[in-house]
Amino acid sequence: RAHVAAIEALNPKINALITVTAEHAIEAAKASDTRRARGEAGPLEGIPLAVKDLFCTEGVPTTAGSKILEGFVPPYESTVTTRLKRDGAVFVGKANLDEFAMGSSNLTSAYGGVLNPWSRRNDPQARLVPGGSSGGSAAAVAARMALGATGTDTGGSIRQPAAFCGIAGIKPTYGRCSRFGIVAFASSLDQAGPFARTVEDCAVLLRSMAGHDPKDSTSADKPVPDFVASCGQSVKGLRIGVPREYHIDGMPAEIEKLWRQGLEWLRDAGAEIVEISLPHAEYALPTYYIVAPAEASSNLARYDGVRFGKRVAESNSDLRDLYERTRAAGFGPEVRRRIMIGTYVLSAGYYDAYYLKAQKVRALIARDFREAWSKVDAIVTPATPSAAFAEGENSDDPLQMYLNDVFTVTANLAGLPGLSVPAGLDPQGLPLGLQVLGRPFDEETVFAVGAALE
Ligand code: GLN
Repeated sequence: RAHVAAIEALNPKINALITVTAEHAIEAAKASDTRRARGEAGPLEGIPLAVKDLFCTEGVPTTAGSKILEGFVPPYESTVTTRLKRDGAVFVGKANLDEFAMGSSNLTSAYGGVLNPWSRRNDPQARLVPGGSSGGSAAAVAARMALGATGTDTGGSIRQPAAFCGIAGIKPTYGRCSRFGIVAFASSLDQAGPFARTVEDCAVLLRSMAGHDPKDSTSADKPVPDFVASCGQSVKGLRIGVPREYHIDGMPAEIEKLWRQGLEWLRDAGAEIVEISLPHAEYALPTYYIVAPAEASSNLARYDGVRFGKRVAESNSDLRDLYERTRAAGFGPEVRRRIMIGTYVLSAGYYDAYYLKAQKVRALIARDFREAWSKVDAIVTPATPSAAFAEGENSDDPLQMYLNDVFTVTANLAGLPGLSVPAGLDPQGLPLGLQVLGRPFDEETVFAVGAALE
């Protein structure tokens, strides 16, 4: 009830939730009380969570932040949300996001931007973005509308909003969580993961979300370790990599300072700090912005006005006219931009020069990391190159916006787990995050290092 009250008081201003399911949540919480009284409580019994509106939820509208899915009520439930419910979680609503998870500010949502609950000390009126694409999930947790939330991360969409909102969030290894029932953006990069106020709470949530699913052929058939136990593990003797290439030009002094501070904490705790090189890191952003739009242009071909949501047609429409009208009315400007870039890089004549080349560079980026893992057990970097920016800043120049993802996209290209840990404040009192990367399927070390940084 406290969380429902917070939603009623704050959501009209913050706009973190597109759909509020308060009544349903109270009913579900009562059922949780009953199970608890009978000694049948699950590991998440009665825990109020927000669900990014990219996860299909049976009987509850799922918009992907797009007008094109207006009126779509899924007849089935995503695997991740099914598992959270199985363990007793209670869903308070569907969280706002950038349209089809394309963005770093939540400003591309057809349902309006989300207000970051934090503000600048010297300019409290400035409307700061929560980051994106999972901006509603992060803001809902930061504003205490929920104890945790689900997100998805294709190029940073869990880690960047977590950093901007002062909470923790992890993108697990590609294949750790099932993608079944999650609206697809870029299938070879998309991964689900949790947000929570602490690293340990993220571990609790991920333990429920993860695991093999025959409904997703890319989900890994590996046992799910006890991530919660990992949070208490010592970092003594661990080798922590610091990639030379991540000291980028123009990085604010407070980010450099936080990074140095974090490494000092780890050294004090007995870890060894090792400088490493990821020579292809500088190509990660252009590689990502070819691969992701290419896969998106293919995935979004299904929104044709016939099978899902919105349909715009004149009575005498032919099929092509139906497609054109529906897609023109349904997709916002960022989604159109991605579809055009993606279609271009996949088209005959350009495929080899762009898409194939990007795939090759992607392989080199992954190889850099494989070589690094022979020298270090985890890598620590800043999560973002700045603190939360204001609405209007970055938004007139797509390229400027894409630069936000400079530290996060490599983990998706290489399929690695990446955790964003709230680790400090900038001079304006805004939260800053550090990122911990680990070997594939070694979330345990990532959690141990993350908990030591908190
Ligand atoms: N900001 C990146 C993009 O716009 C990443 C988004 C995401 O991870 N879903 O593509």
